[in-house]
Amino acid sequence: MNDYMTILKENGLKATFQRMHILEVIGMCGHKDIDEIYAEAIKTHPSISLATVYKNILIMTQSGVLVEVPLVGRKAKFEIKKDCHVHLVCSHCGDIQDEAIELVDADKMQKILSGKNFFYSHQEINIYGICDSCQKIKVS
Ligand SMILES: [Zn+2]
Ligand SMILES: [Zn+2]
Repeated sequence: MNDYMTILKENGLKATFQRMHILEVIGMCGHKDIDEIYAEAIKTHPSISLATVYKNILIMTQSGVLVEVPLVGRKAKFEIKKDCHVHLVCSHCGDIQDEAIELVDADKMQKILSGKNFFYSHQEINIYGICDSCQKIKVS
């Protein structure tokens, strides 16, 4: 169980009911776009508005609680910030799986980029393919 109240406070945000609820939804569902998060959030709290969800997701992304995952040809998805990982993105259904690997380790990356005087911070990598369940649908 994640302590969302602590995560919010550590990032300088008030732990409002709306933010806690949005984090619960994302924590439960993984990578979701704003519409999907909203659709899930109103199931348990019908009073929450799309504008509120949208506004709080932006604030939590700016303050580093959430990370935006930009996707080719689809709406960006959001996840709770965690250790460096790559995303396996299904081109068919848009499903995203986390893969806990760093493709190029930070030291090596900094060495490669120092020639360009570019300071490395982190990597966000999407690897595209077809997921397990979509492969099964195509075969049957
Ligand atoms: Zn798929
Ligand atoms: Zn992820």
